[in-house]
Amino acid sequence: MGVRSAVKWPDFFCQHLKLLLSLTRKIIRCFSIEFSPFTTLKAKNQFQHDAAKIAFNERHRQTIHHNISRYDVAVERGYHRFKEIDVTKKQAAFIKRAMLAEWDEYLIQFERNITKHGVKVLWARDANEAIQHIKALLTEHQATLVVKSKSMTTEEIAFNEELQAVGCESVETDLGEFIVQVAGEKPYHIVTPAMHKSKEDIAQLFHEKFNTPSTSTPEELTLYVRSFLREQFLKADIGVTGANFLIADIGAVAVTENEGNALMSTSFPKLHLVIAGIEKVIPSFDHLGVIQPLLATLGTGQQVTAYNTIFSGPRLSNEGDGPDEMVVILMDNGRTTVYEDTESAQALACIRCGACLNACPVYKTIGGYTYHSTYSGPIGSVITPFFEGWKKMGHLSFACSLCGKCADVCPVEIPLPDLLLTNRKKVVEKKGRPFLEKELFKGFQWIAESRTRFDFLPFWVKNVISYPFNFVGWGPKRKMPVFRQSFTKQWMKNNKIRIS
Ligand code: SF4
Repeated sequence: MGVRSAVKWPDFFCQHLKLLLSLTRKIIRCFSIEFSPFTTLKAKNQFQHDAAKIAFNERHRQTIHHNISRYDVAVERGYHRFKEIDVTKKQAAFIKRAMLAEWDEYLIQFERNITKHGVKVLWARDANEAIQHIKALLTEHQATLVVKSKSMTTEEIAFNEELQAVGCESVETDLGEFIVQVAGEKPYHIVTPAMHKSKEDIAQLFHEKFNTPSTSTPEELTLYVRSFLREQFLKADIGVTGANFLIADIGAVAVTENEGNALMSTSFPKLHLVIAGIEKVIPSFDHLGVIQPLLATLGTGQQVTAYNTIFSGPRLSNEGDGPDEMVVILMDNGRTTVYEDTESAQALACIRCGACLNACPVYKTIGGYTYHSTYSGPIGSVITPFFEGWKKMGHLSFACSLCGKCADVCPVEIPLPDLLLTNRKKVVEKKGRPFLEKELFKGFQWIAESRTRFDFLPFWVKNVISYPFNFVGWGPKRKMPVFRQSFTKQWMKNNKIRIS
């Protein structure tokens, strides 16, 4: 039998088609573009795809800019209430770093002191362990309804979805969180979860879901939610909160909020369950006096948040309301991995004020959902790769123009752009860069190092070379600039300099 007749043509064809597809995919990856249907939209491509789409959504941009500009005005006013805002920021930064220097000690101190008040403390290494603890509590209390105040830590562990899977309803009680829950969405922003929605969007959403008039005003909608939630507070078996701060010296949990919903969530149900990240610990009650006003001003532009509650244990025998039982779950879920990295450990000083998100030009352009992570914006881009893995989320380190505004506003002086740069270094060390990108940059470096080489090619050649970038990476809504004259010549002309 001849060699040719031994070849099965369908197999041969399939193998070569596969080879061709894999080659195409590699070339596409070199240019870092997404080209469906040959590529699946993995996290990075999904990010680029969503960013390119939302960045040109005028309505989205207008809503975000409108909401952030109101925040900016309020924060500016808030700054003036401090005698010396920079000194207060330095104090807050010092407190959080002092905590990090003896993190384990303060956590143990917190556990010891809060346990004395009759609170049970459970430790969770990751989301899975936290969920196991929560499910055990649900069974113990035969819970079918949970009311929950705003907590990003519960978002990390997909709390609502996990409860739904075991037949327990979890109702969000913060107005913003309630809106996104009704819409079937995740929080858009760590402080203002429904920032991407206008009042008209919300009126329409409530009209569809609850049959309220589509012309309802924000006040009318708030009253509707208020009366709806009152019933839930009374019926709920468990009230869940996060923690803004875990106070080590007095053994208590500080929660700061504007609507009183955390207070309500913990007043009626029999169990108050706190789910907190272990970085929330602060050494002393006195430190709240420095950090809480900063959180209020940088978070929402307020002098002080409307409700600041210190929970130190279940209801005492002489008290009329409050839970019979209080449990605190202290969750790691990647935080100690951040701590192991000497530089990035500073990110654990974050008090989740959200100021860096509001300042970030990238966040303001691509919005919160494009990140596809619990924490978005600059701080999200720093910590998410540690939490969810470098392979999946390392690309977030590049979602930054390094303008530095996030570091300027941060109340605890986290050098976010520096941390993003070290993240980028890690991504390159772990994954390397695409071959073509490396070679192109080497070539560009060689050309850029010499003025003669830079000006050697005529403009039409440069325009021909740059033209394909209109289709790859640069995005369909932008055009590459057309070269007409070298920078040197333009500069000389503008400054009226002549070369003799
Ligand atoms: S990194 Fe700083 S600015 Fe950003 S949320 Fe945390 S504390 Fe606020």
